[in-house]
Amino acid sequence: MWALRQDLTGSLTEAVVEHAHRFEDMRQEIVCETCQRLLTARPLVPRTVETMVGRVRLERPCFYCRVCQAGVYPLDEAPGLTPGRTQLDVQKAAARVVIETAYDEAQALFHDLTGVHLGSERMHTLTHRVAEGLSVLDIAPSREQIEERVAQAAAGTWRRPWVVLGIDGAYAPTRPESARGRRPGQRRQRARRPRWKGEPREVKGFRFYLLDGERIVHLLRWHQIQTEADLGEALKQVQEAGLIPEDRGRLCVVCDGAPWRWEHVEALFPDAKQVLDYYHCSDSLHRMAKAQYGDAQQALHWVEATLTRLYLGKISAVLGGLKRMQGTSEEAQQAIANCGAFLHKHRGRTSYRQLRRGGYTVGSGGIESSNKFICHTRLKRSGAWGYEVNCNQMLALRCATYNGTFDQVFVRHQERLRAA
Ligand SMILES: [Zn+2]
Repeated sequence: MWALRQDLTGSLTEAVVEHAHRFEDMRQEIVCETCQRLLTARPLVPRTVETMVGRVRLERPCFYCRVCQAGVYPLDEAPGLTPGRTQLDVQKAAARVVIETAYDEAQALFHDLTGVHLGSERMHTLTHRVAEGLSVLDIAPSREQIEERVAQAAAGTWRRPWVVLGIDGAYAPTRPESARGRRPGQRRQRARRPRWKGEPREVKGFRFYLLDGERIVHLLRWHQIQTEADLGEALKQVQEAGLIPEDRGRLCVVCDGAPWRWEHVEALFPDAKQVLDYYHCSDSLHRMAKAQYGDAQQALHWVEATLTRLYLGKISAVLGGLKRMQGTSEEAQQAIANCGAFLHKHRGRTSYRQLRRGGYTVGSGGIESSNKFICHTRLKRSGAWGYEVNCNQMLALRCATYNGTFDQVFVRHQERLRAA
């Protein structure tokens, strides 16, 4: 029965479609939508489609208007068939598997679990067609959905919840465009070593989430191999679409020290609380202390004391101390100057005690984990070097899945298929 299941459910489906849409099946006449002429049915035309419940053969009446030179198959539209042989349910299921694991593995899993055979090349083509041109707004939940999550987190408390925005970059292995086309060794056997050199590229992303006690409630994320300006543009689209209910929560932005991130934040969310990620801050203090004191106990003492001062909001004392500090070497002097400049630039973002008391987060773990979960788990696989465009489409679909908008992406795809 297991082996026969696809044939069985396929023929059951044929019977059900015939019954459920018998009106369309028996239809003899239809009015041309363009010229309003009455058209009579021509001989039945067979069509076979592949679905998750097996291969389904339909014999459907065809109507053709000679004047408008257009044909119509009402029985295709009634059960919601899409153009092409492989129907949307198969494409959707295949995409779900493909965005989690490598193509060969996805193909084997898919076949073993569903009984549907779909080649890995085909899975690749179908999945990337769905993801073509996806923008941040295509994969973002609606304002209503986000508000609902905010309301749930706020239920039972009188305080507005904390909405956190994290921005960060991660590296993904990509393959240059010059690697496209037929290469020696590709047809008969694999070349031992590719002739191109892989390029690690930065995947820049942002994530909005809620802090509900110790728990993170995810709202929206977007990761792409993109420029700083592209990321700013995507953030701007989110802000302009009003997706983040800034009035319902307290917005807080946590980032490392990279200046471009703060430029976008200051331009788009001027009222947000800004926090320099505690661990990046500590990291830069450790680096300075190591240059100044070496690996000595003194270095640790200095870092601990400095972090405590920052924690207590005494940034001016820390900056003054750095200014007075004499470098033990030229390198150390430079490290002290760098560290001073770094802290000076972020002086308003380091009052960790106040922030903690206010319930804000001081760590960028939320976006770091998103980097790992969205990019690394799928793109950083041994031997995997994807083209940039493919990486971005994969990232967009992964973002959609974990934003809870995977269905929405397929509604868009179906509309596009129909329009085409
Ligand atoms: Zn017509």
